[in-house]
Amino acid sequence: MEVIDKLLAGQRLSEREFLLLLEQRKQPEVCRRLREEAERLCLKNFGTKVYIRGLIEFTNYCKNNCYYCGIRRGNGGVKRYRLTKEEILDCCREGHRLGFRTFVLQGGEDPWFSDERMVDIIETIKGRYPDCALTLSVGEKEKESYRKFREAGADRYLLRHETADVDHYGVLHPREMSLAHRMQCLKDLKELGFQVGAGFMVQSPGQELKNLAKDLFFLQEFRPEMVGMGPFIPHHETKFAAEPAGSMELTLFLLSVIRIMLPEVLLPATTALGTLGEGGRERGLLAGANVIMPNLSPEKNRKDYSLYDNKIATGEEAAEGLEALKKSVSAVGRSIVFERGDAPGLGNLKRP
Ligand code: SAM
Repeated sequence: MEVIDKLLAGQRLSEREFLLLLEQRKQPEVCRRLREEAERLCLKNFGTKVYIRGLIEFTNYCKNNCYYCGIRRGNGGVKRYRLTKEEILDCCREGHRLGFRTFVLQGGEDPWFSDERMVDIIETIKGRYPDCALTLSVGEKEKESYRKFREAGADRYLLRHETADVDHYGVLHPREMSLAHRMQCLKDLKELGFQVGAGFMVQSPGQELKNLAKDLFFLQEFRPEMVGMGPFIPHHETKFAAEPAGSMELTLFLLSVIRIMLPEVLLPATTALGTLGEGGRERGLLAGANVIMPNLSPEKNRKDYSLYDNKIATGEEAAEGLEALKKSVSAVGRSIVFERGDAPGLGNLKRP
């Protein structure tokens, strides 16, 4: 049986088979079959719905030094900011008024936001907006910290694994960081009953097809509720400044593969995909994505949360641009919905 037929039949693939599939990424017929099946599954499981999440980039301080990232510790050119609790709550108030029912608190790994401060913020948001889901994306912590966040009411956690290959991990990160710890975090988060998001960048420096095969195999086995996957885009103040950005075509191909492999997964069409080219996010929706995360951060801070160059920050991706976003999403036959949109099939998750 051809690997594509195996995938389309809902069977598990080995790492080697994922590699064979990836080697066919430039065959138009293969791309078409994957895209059509991804679209069919999206419509079957979610109808025309596209879930929106309000992204609050609440700090760009980071104690880590990931080589690809514009806000890494070693970049002295960043104007650092952290939002106050009141500012974060203002973002939520505005988001709730606009209709958002999921807030995503994302930031660098900023020790100022101690467990106690995070718990206070989580409890306040969940107390004020009990109808909303709260997603955290604040990096690697010890299990006890994650437990406190979960008990305080956080529902979901995004922590891209970045790459499932230990050598490639070492190309992207300094020695003080380890893939083993990141993977342990993902396991801990799952055990604590978070809806968990893993994921990676497409064509990050040093990434080979065999690494991507490992990423897909890992996602297949780990079965996260969400997958954050978008193209790598260089940032001029990193050592990868001269590296090429990931391609739109490969990102779309991978979105389709992930949709087919994890039919019910929540899969954003990322800002990075939108940054790659006009209509990138809409193409992502047609390839299998079903989530968009508009920016709810205060306008004054947006340009300083600069993970990569030319990050879009003023148009449809901004929460204020919701009307324009609704239009461009409906132009591809989908519709923005405001519901919480939890991952289906959560019956197997431990609830607190
Ligand atoms: N600190 C948290 C963490 O590490 O999970 C959350 C913030 S981190 C900036 C969010 C994501 O941005 C990372 O998981 C990474 O994949 C992505 N990112 C960072 N630099 C990027 C780049 N140059 N191009 C594309 N994505 C990038």
